Amino acid sequence: DPRIARISSAIRVIPDFPKPGIMFQDITTMLLDTKAFKDTIDLFVERYRDKNISVVAGVEARGFIFGPPIALAIGAKFVPMRKPNKLPGEVISEEYSLEYGTDKMEMHVGAVEAGERALVIDDLIATGGTLCAAVKLLERVGVNVVECACVIELLGLKGRERLGDRPLFVLVNAT
Ligand code: 5GP
Repeated sequence: DPRIARISSAIRVIPDFPKPGIMFQDITTMLLDTKAFKDTIDLFVERYRDKNISVVAGVEARGFIFGPPIALAIGAKFVPMRKPNKLPGEVISEEYSLEYGTDKMEMHVGAVEAGERALVIDDLIATGGTLCAAVKLLERVGVNVVECACVIELLGLKGRERLGDRPLFVLVNAT
């Protein structure tokens, strides 16, 4: 798809952020390119509009940028998957491992119902730990995760393997 090249070149790479040795994929420059941003949303909407998806679950923080416009366009609800102690209501939480230590992801009880069909979205998959935690939260309450989607897949970190059988759709690969 010719739109991919423009999206890819609108993403800025910042070396040594947030620490030495990391090549940070910065999607904020892509949001400044109105065509690239629209093409990104359109590509996801074209893929998911006829898949009977009732939930778009966005992972904090950059899943909150891409999730809502997709949800609105396909007629699904948007559910935020948040860092701990941010959601005010009753939550269920899932712990996951980071490079050093662990973190938690939370979702409001009652946001989704068993049997619903969900898309999980974030900006980027690296090790897959973050997306996996979101998927597990949804599956624990009986939601069917149809697919995970990211703008960028960092290759070489086996994030895709960590997701097991669940399909992963990405627009751009990076190393
Ligand atoms: P993972 O859990 O797959 O190892 O890491 C993915 C999470 O970390 C995502 O929520 C993503 O937003 C964030 N992340 C890690 N590296 C980068 C990066 O280079 N650029 C951006 N935009 N996000 C990153």
